[in-house]
Amino acid sequence: MIMAMPESVDTLKAQMHAKIKALGKAGLFMSGTFVRKRRRCGNPACACAKGGEPHVAYTVTSKVAGKTKAIYVPVDLTEAVEQWTNEYKRIKKLMKEIDMLAERVIRLHVPRARAVKRRNASLASTTETSSDA
Ligand SMILES: [Zn+2]
Repeated sequence: MIMAMPESVDTLKAQMHAKIKALGKAGLFMSGTFVRKRRRCGNPACACAKGGEPHVAYTVTSKVAGKTKAIYVPVDLTEAVEQWTNEYKRIKKLMKEIDMLAERVIRLHVPRARAVKRRNASLASTTETSSDA
């Protein structure tokens, strides 16, 4: 545990900014799952059909309208494409974390606003107004 302090809106917002900054450093990305598969090609004359090593195929699979879509990736692109899909995962994770921080800001805000209202109500009789943003 790093933080024993109650979290503040400012801290959460600073964390959001840090994550958005990390998002800004994004490289090329692509959604989908990079898959390395070993398979036999189906050609009976091929060595793979005669007990040889199966072929290795690389695909990026994704769900499109409920259907799995697979794109074959040429061997010389595999390294790049695998990196793109990893980058997408990183961005997705960051966005989810930003989402969760935003949710915490909203949840923190409600009781805080109520507290301010309550305090203002109790101060209503006095002439002094305070603002501690
Ligand atoms: Zn084959």
